[in-house]
Order: sequence, then C-alpha cells, then structure tokens
Amino acid sequence: MTFTQPSIQQFIHDLPKAEIHIHLEGAIQPETVLKLAERHHKLDKLPGTDVDTLRQWFTFTDFPQFVVVYMTIQDLLRTAEDFALVAYENGADMAAQNIRYRELTITPYTHTDFQDKLSIEALLEGLQDGRIRAQRDFGVEMRWVFDIPRNLSFPQRDGQTYDPRPASKTLAYALQGRDWGVVGLGLGGNEVNAPPEPFAHAFTIAKAEGLLSVPHAGETMGASSIWGAVRNLQADRLGHGVRASEDSALVAYLRERQIPLEINPTSNTCLHIYPEMAAHPFRQLDDMGLLVTINSDDPPLFNTNLLQEYAILADTFGYDETGLTRIARNAFVAAGVEDDVKSKLLAEFDEQT
Ligand SMILES: [Zn+2]
Repeated sequence: MTFTQPSIQQFIHDLPKAEIHIHLEGAIQPETVLKLAERHHKLDKLPGTDVDTLRQWFTFTDFPQFVVVYMTIQDLLRTAEDFALVAYENGADMAAQNIRYRELTITPYTHTDFQDKLSIEALLEGLQDGRIRAQRDFGVEMRWVFDIPRNLSFPQRDGQTYDPRPASKTLAYALQGRDWGVVGLGLGGNEVNAPPEPFAHAFTIAKAEGLLSVPHAGETMGASSIWGAVRNLQADRLGHGVRASEDSALVAYLRERQIPLEINPTSNTCLHIYPEMAAHPFRQLDDMGLLVTINSDDPPLFNTNLLQEYAILADTFGYDETGLTRIARNAFVAAGVEDDVKSKLLAEFDEQT
C-alpha cells in the first residue's frame, strides 16, 4: 500500500521515532538470515540462497507458514556472535528509519532450554555487544524485554494450551539481565485457552524487582485476557490490547490509568484479528483517550516496517502531521528505558518536532 503523498512520507521518515513492540527474532532481515545460514552451514534449510527468494518465503501467507519461518530463523541463532550480529543489524535498521529507541522482545527460553544450544550468559553477552556497538556507530538506544512463551507444549489437560514451566526460568534470566539492558518481563503466544493468571507469580516478583510487566493481551483473545493482564499481572503496558475496544468498562479503566497499548495494525490484519485495515480500531481507541502507540511486531515477516505503519495511520486512519507527531511522542512516554535516558530522548523529540 503506497498511497501516501511523498511529502508525508518524508515527514514520517524525519520524525524521531520510538518502537516498543517488536520481536528481535522476528525482525531479522533476509540478508542476515543468509549470513547466519552460511555461518552454520545450513543453507540447505532455506528455500533458496538469494535475497529475493528468501524475502518472498518470509512474507506472510498463513499462520503455519509463519511458524515454519519463525522456527527456521530461531534455529540459526546459536552463538553469542549470532545475537551480536542481529542486535547490531537491528541498530542499522533503526538508523535507516530514524528510530531513536527500540525495546525488543526476545524469548530466551527457546534459545537456552529448547535445544540446549546456548547459555544465558552467552545470549546476554551477544546482545550487549551488538547493542553497544550499534549505539556507538548509529547513536541509537535499545533495551530488551524477555518474554515467557505461554504455550510451549500442548495440548495440555482440559483443553488448556498453557504451560507455566518457562515462567520461572524466564524471570530468572530477566533479573540476571537487568544490568545488560533488560527492562521488562513479557508473555507471548496464543491466548486462546491460555489466560494470564497462571503466570501471575513471575510478574509479581518482576515488578517488585523493578522490571516492567509487558504481556501480550487482547490479540487472539478479547477483554477477559486484558482484564487478567491488568489485574493479575499488573501490566504496565499491553502488547496489542486492541480488543479492549470490545468492553467499555475496560476502555474506561485503561483510559483512567493511561496504560499504553502497543498496537501493530499490519500484524493484526495478517493474522486475521481484523478482516481488513479499515476495520482496525486504532483510531477509535485513540479517539476514546487511550494512550496508543504504533509498532511493527515482526516487520519482514509481515512485509512491513515502522515507516509503513505510520503511513497506514496517514492513509487509512486520516492522521495529519500533528496527529502523527502526537502518536510518535506516546511511544517515548511509554518506553521502559531508565528515567534519565527517557528524559533525554523526550527532550530531543520535543526539540526536533
Ligand atoms: Zn508481539
């Protein structure tokens, strides 16, 4: 979709931006996947060895395909150097889109415990190396959210699809990572028959230890999942949260507390949460006074990036430059970075807009 006027495209590019909902594993570009596959002699695991073929294979067609691509990428992340590479290249991507701050979600459990490939120390060191070099070379800030995979193994008893076992280990990893840029504990995966409540214990400890509670909620399930996240996980922000629009009492609750929503319109339409972009409630939630932010979730997998998501706000939801600037500022306000860095980023934003 490229209806956007060139002038607003330039405006969107130049706007200093923050992005607070994006998965490191799902943000890796095809070029980097090729590098990793070469490094580990696994080119035969890919459908081709040129970027165009890979980009096409990457692009979302349906959920099973999405999972295959995701698992292939995950299997190529094997060493500290791999994480350093993807973190650094993420910094280059930030610079290209003028994204000043990114908070990236990582699922360490699937790298450390799934196939017994990597120690948490190696993972943290790799992330740190890439993050620091990106900051030096591109002047960008990154922080991490470690997220619990909520339905690691299923089917479970009684039709439940959740598995609370990764919670305590992910919490331990996140606490260990506090001096290495980890700012939050997340909860990802399919919410259907996998409510937030069984994970409450980990979030209570995380919050007491100074981490943010940033679960996915209100994507594949509606208001009940969001109520669980705000009441039982004491959510500081909601990953997606868009289905709050289905419950007016919940909308009032989120508005009153200004709990930020991390909204990903292209992801939501690819995964059929909404049948088409025009049916997406982004504007409605904003107009109702909720603190909304715009994000890209797994950009190359959904054939998007943050610039494209801002273009959707302009094209589909009718945002003008003033509106886009207000939405951009929300993401800095909602950022989980330390207070002094946040003040600096916000001051720079206000100076440049
Ligand atoms: Zn997500």
